Amino acid sequence: MDLKYTPEQEAFRKEARAWLEANVPSEKLASFDTKEGFEQHREWEKKLQAGGYAMVPWPVEYGGRGANLLEWLIFEEEYYRAGAPGRVNQNGIFLLGPTIMDVGTPEQKARFLPKMASSEEVWAQGWSEPNAGSDMANIQATAIKDGDHFVINGQKTWASRGAFAHWLFGMFRSDPDSTRHKGLTFILVPLDTPGITVRPIEKLNNKKAFAEVFFDDARVPVEYQLGEEGKGWDVAMATAGFERGLMLRSPARFQDTARKLVELYKETVASGAYVAPELRRTVAQCWMDAEAYALNTYQTVAHLMGGGKIGAEASLNKIFWSELDTKMHETALKLLGHRAELLPGSSAAGDVGEWLDGYIFALAGPIYAGTNEIQRNIIAERILGMPRK
Ligand SMILES: Cc1cc2nc3c(=O)[nH]c(=O)nc-3n(C[C@H](O)[C@H](O)[C@H](O)COP(=O)(O)OP(=O)(O)OC[C@H]3O[C@@H](n4cnc5c(N)ncnc54)[C@H](O)[C@@H]3O)c2cc1C
Repeated sequence: MDLKYTPEQEAFRKEARAWLEANVPSEKLASFDTKEGFEQHREWEKKLQAGGYAMVPWPVEYGGRGANLLEWLIFEEEYYRAGAPGRVNQNGIFLLGPTIMDVGTPEQKARFLPKMASSEEVWAQGWSEPNAGSDMANIQATAIKDGDHFVINGQKTWASRGAFAHWLFGMFRSDPDSTRHKGLTFILVPLDTPGITVRPIEKLNNKKAFAEVFFDDARVPVEYQLGEEGKGWDVAMATAGFERGLMLRSPARFQDTARKLVELYKETVASGAYVAPELRRTVAQCWMDAEAYALNTYQTVAHLMGGGKIGAEASLNKIFWSELDTKMHETALKLLGHRAELLPGSSAAGDVGEWLDGYIFALAGPIYAGTNEIQRNIIAERILGMPRK
């Protein structure tokens, strides 16, 4: 691919930069893992939608801008450069949205995508169960057809922002006699359905947006089935490909952290503090890795724009960004020394506390979106062709 931007792409970048400079909130929003912050972020998403930037690669009729994935990468670079708020509806816009675009009916596209783009409806991902995390084919929650409804029973867990979300997408066992990957159906569930109980779980950062969700004869219309009945596994694997391979973590996020890490390194050196030589090498390596990740993503996008699909290589991607994120935050904490223990908002922390907060979240990177051990299994079996045992 040609690594130079076209005049049209440069013009789009300029336009996006100007809009973001004029519109990004001057005050940092509260965390979207709090009720207050969740609503503040929804307001911001509405503004993005009004400006035409909610989801740039989506068709205009679904709340997008009709741009391509390269323009999405450019937009993401500008988004992080502007210090804009995190996307509260990331499970919706980055994971479910592309899946609905691929396999949804025209009615489902029209019904769900515009409200997703504006965050009028925020989505939670309901895949994990107490005994079906890594072993997702062990899903036990059932959705049994009764006339024009599915009757759902069972439990989901670890739903990010599930405590505040409006809808949940998940896989359920629609054939009670089935096992493993077979007999599962992908269903879109309104969380205000009678028979559904959402129980928040507190995370290491004391916030309670994570949730477990209980289903007790909850009736959901069959029109909310996504893809074919019994073929939910295939639909979910397409969603996982997007999650691990491209959309969930754009390179701009890591390039932005790498830039901040370099700044922190320079400030630390300028302050006269001792910085061990190996720390300098790690900072340089992190910066190079973030750039390498960006180049690799451009390659993925070129492949997708040429009609390709994301396959098992999504697992390589997921390991790379999650390990890089942890490494960058760990390095920042080492540079900060004793100041690393300051949390955001504590007196004397300034913006230094963001690093500890970011580190705590980075620790979850090797777990969510499928643990890195499982990604290594996938790489061993499907890319390297090694035997299962
Ligand atoms: C911050 C965060 C957000 C999350 N958000 C969501 C969400 O929104 N929706 C959702 O559905 N889930 C979510 N999850 C759940 C996440 O997907 C699961 O935690 C993950 O898939 C692991 O499943 P588990 O917790 O059941 O661990 P287990 O599957 O019990 O695994 C425990 C450990 O054993 C290892 N292990 C298990 N099997 C193997 C094997 N065959 N080979 C090698 N090692 C193995 C695992 O890698 C792991 O280290 C989230 C998790 C986190 C931390």
